[in-house]
Amino acid sequence: MVAYTALNRTALTREAGISMATIPARFTLGNATVSILRLGALQARLADWLRLDPAAWPEAYRDAFAAPISVPIQCVHLALSGRSLLIDACHPQLLAHVGTPDPDAAASPGLRDQLAAVGVDPADIDTVAITHPHFDHYCGLIDVGAAPAGDRLLFPNARHLLGRADGEQLQADLANPATPVGRALGLVDRAGRLDLIDGARDLGDGIRILPTPGETPGHQAVRVESGGAVLYILDDLYHHPVEVAHPDLGVHWADPVATAASRAQLVAAALAERALLIAAHIPGVGRLTGTADHARWEPRAPAELVPAG
Ligand SMILES: [Zn+2]
Repeated sequence: MVAYTALNRTALTREAGISMATIPARFTLGNATVSILRLGALQARLADWLRLDPAAWPEAYRDAFAAPISVPIQCVHLALSGRSLLIDACHPQLLAHVGTPDPDAAASPGLRDQLAAVGVDPADIDTVAITHPHFDHYCGLIDVGAAPAGDRLLFPNARHLLGRADGEQLQADLANPATPVGRALGLVDRAGRLDLIDGARDLGDGIRILPTPGETPGHQAVRVESGGAVLYILDDLYHHPVEVAHPDLGVHWADPVATAASRAQLVAAALAERALLIAAHIPGVGRLTGTADHARWEPRAPAELVPAG
């Protein structure tokens, strides 16, 4: 029910001189067209992220712990019923601020170019859901000028939705353009285009914001249902499939109790709905298999998804 199309990869690659791995992938979910934008990648050491000694590395994932792995930064664009929505906004050339960019992925084209590749004008985007205010999820909200005064909103006509629990913690930074939060999210706020979201919110057309606290107190996911198919955009509820197989594992900066509760809700729903899943840092599209107590992340091969028209 669901296949995948690459865009016109050959033409795009020739025109922009960009690598195959960085070209957006698109698929159809009912009446929705879903584009996965790959905005760079970071080198991650899972043993550090999860603070696990070698003796505790799960056997099936030892290779992923033994050496740095490349984790993508994926943002998602949704088009349906005349709506144009973006979930998160990263700027690949700014990733050095948050970690070690993967050298193979450092040359990713930016959001503007990748949106153009899927036929989207930033001015037409009506909603930007910011899953949480970590730099790699919001730094692409602006066209960066030489100084903060020269910055411009990349999505000037969109409402930008941030979890209230996160927004309220950031009030001082939002007001200070000298901070990363203040420069990007603060510009959105000062333009009167930032909405703080309490709990779940129905955005219409089968799109719903769901609170999934853990990574941050206000972390939120997006659920899309169209034509009987369901997709969750989970962002940092999971960072690697090992956290699905071993739900007691999580990154050291997250709240473990809140994360466990958010994951348990998602797993029950996603298994029952046979939902597709996209996480910011797990490449491509997945689905859960197994049971609520023993779930696994199963990648969906491109041939199993429905091509976008
Ligand atoms: Zn992240």
